[in-house]
Amino acid sequence: MDEQLKAQIRNIVGEAAHILVVSHIRPDGDAVGSILGLGLSLKAAGKDVQMVLADGVPASFKHLSGSETINKRVKGEVDVSIVLDCSDLQRIGDVLPKDTAPTLNIDHHITNLNFAQFNLVYPQVPSTAEVLVGLMPQLGLSIEKEAAEALLTGMITDTLGFRTANIHADTLRTAAELMELGCDLPYLYNKALHFRSFEAVRYWGAGLSTLEKEDRLLWACLTQKDRQSIGYPGRDDADLINILSSIEEIDIAIIFVEQANGSVKVSWRARKGFDVSQIASGFGGGGHKPAAGAEIDGDLELVKIEVLEATRSYLKSLQ
Ligand code: AMP
Ligand code: MN
Ligand code: MN
Repeated sequence: MDEQLKAQIRNIVGEAAHILVVSHIRPDGDAVGSILGLGLSLKAAGKDVQMVLADGVPASFKHLSGSETINKRVKGEVDVSIVLDCSDLQRIGDVLPKDTAPTLNIDHHITNLNFAQFNLVYPQVPSTAEVLVGLMPQLGLSIEKEAAEALLTGMITDTLGFRTANIHADTLRTAAELMELGCDLPYLYNKALHFRSFEAVRYWGAGLSTLEKEDRLLWACLTQKDRQSIGYPGRDDADLINILSSIEEIDIAIIFVEQANGSVKVSWRARKGFDVSQIASGFGGGGHKPAAGAEIDGDLELVKIEVLEATRSYLKSLQ
């Protein structure tokens, strides 16, 4: 970050009394971890902080200290608003009044639209949490154990346990720094990535029974009926997409998750050398080259046909 911008941001944050920290709907570990990492550190620096996630904290991250203080709505005064891990402002849900530009946008998505007054976007860094660990000392914020645990969780989840192609030696050095602040890496790893509920695995079963493969493209669907009959409480894919992308004979995996509001949540995962963020952007979504998503209005079958067609065209364009 250039020195002038850093000084400006440090001043703005330094002078603010009431700070809003917000991240995206369907929060993942990087959204929850980044909010808590920055939010708890700002609180420790004496700020009045509101941490907001429109969809609340998923059960799989409720073990993180401070997660119980994250609200679903903004209440009261805000001087400075900080949006974390969001490529566009729609991602935060109905949290800010329409047409307000937040103060700060800190992110790592290649598809980021630079929607804030100050935009710190680092597409080469594997998680927003890792961006924050580098940035916070420059803003005069120290990282205590509870914030470190949240940030390490964000790093673990966005790198799928330090195995995505975008990790580098600094990622591991940063993780080691957080361990030295008292984090129990195996505990946080198991909580975030390994342990899951009985219902989640049964829900996988429903999705796996729909698995289809065409050359090196693979897809599966999850319906509302699956969730209801199994009693799976989320409206996500329970990370089934990571199982699909573990199938060696494929280049791109897609999952379609039917939603209650007449839309379909689509997730793409791809091998190194592919860029599924382009396809997701074409449907109003976004993400990273190897992992992207979009929320598409329409019936499951129709969305599936359109998305598969766009993905086939993308694959064809590479030939
Ligand atoms: P997901 O498929 O939801 O696990 O998301 C994969 C990546 O794409 C993550 O980095 C998300 O932040 C991003 N992403 C998912 N859905 C959207 C969306 N509707 N708009 C923008 N980015 C998205
Ligand atoms: Mn995220
Ligand atoms: Mn992220």
